Amino acid sequence: MASPRRLAPSYARARLELLAAADAAGARVEHHPHPGRGLEGEDLAVDVAELGPVDAADVVLVVSATHGVEGFCGSALQTGWLEHPASARPDGVRLVLVHALNPYGFSWVRRVNEDNVDLNRNFVDWTRPPPDNAEYDRIAHLLVPESWTLEEQERTSLELLAIAEDMGLERMQEVVSRGQYRQPTGVFYGGSGPVWSNRWLHTWCAANLEACRRLTIIDLHSGLGPWGHGELICVESAGTPPHDRASALWGEVTSMADGSAAGATLDGDWLSSAHRLAPHAEVTSGALEFGTVDPVTVAQALRADAWLHAHGDPLGPAGAEVRTQVRGAFADDAPAWMDALWDRFTDVLGAALAR
Ligand SMILES: [Zn+2]
Repeated sequence: MASPRRLAPSYARARLELLAAADAAGARVEHHPHPGRGLEGEDLAVDVAELGPVDAADVVLVVSATHGVEGFCGSALQTGWLEHPASARPDGVRLVLVHALNPYGFSWVRRVNEDNVDLNRNFVDWTRPPPDNAEYDRIAHLLVPESWTLEEQERTSLELLAIAEDMGLERMQEVVSRGQYRQPTGVFYGGSGPVWSNRWLHTWCAANLEACRRLTIIDLHSGLGPWGHGELICVESAGTPPHDRASALWGEVTSMADGSAAGATLDGDWLSSAHRLAPHAEVTSGALEFGTVDPVTVAQALRADAWLHAHGDPLGPAGAEVRTQVRGAFADDAPAWMDALWDRFTDVLGAALAR
């Protein structure tokens, strides 16, 4: 089926459209202001739109923009659903749409947040020293060099390729993307403590999920896997109860824990802590990951973005260029892409609502 929504051109527009759709659908809406400012100087917020009883035991939570820029598609899917729900919501089920968990990254067209932190590497146990990734440290200067001229891009990329040949491409992918906690201007940086969105999510869940006994979470992502394909990724290994519940609900589900998913095994993603966010609930969750372009193109965009914010001028001419590159790595304006996403999303959300 054709998607009722195309991608918005900016966070500000996406937010307006979501709020208008929520209003028209009669949803309860809350705005949770973020302390930062957007690319166009606009206010930033996490907006929560809800349908169904507040004290429902069954809650379905759909989250967009955990990775800022990935909110372009996530937001369009949420707004599309509010305008054209593709299946009925049973009376007793509470549907919660969290719009832009990382609004700063969404507005600035970055995967990371205001602290250059990857939110899905930030949910580690901060009472202990963060995970070590010494191999990342050795290539940090090549991943994000001080200069981003074409010559430097070529030189550093060739050096990285040579190292990848040595250690194996898969191992290299894991070293780069599993998360690192010592290079604040690097890629896949996990931070030095819980960031704003992490703290907000804990506060919101503690205040709003008291009555919830069965929580189904769909966290919307893009940038991994074949173009237009929507892979459901479970954080637990196959054979564990959460993975069994996810496969019973959705059919084929890959696992981040046992390496069957498109992405690397990683530390500190928020879905792995979801059982602590809703301690009274049985949690079934999946990251719904939509493919865009090839991994090398995505990696180059992330390197350019990290360079821009560490050594360049985000508001200068290079800024607009890098943002176009990053947006293209995580979202596709071709109608066929959104149509493919819409079909998959409506199936996944429909199944969650009908549980
Ligand atoms: Zn993501």
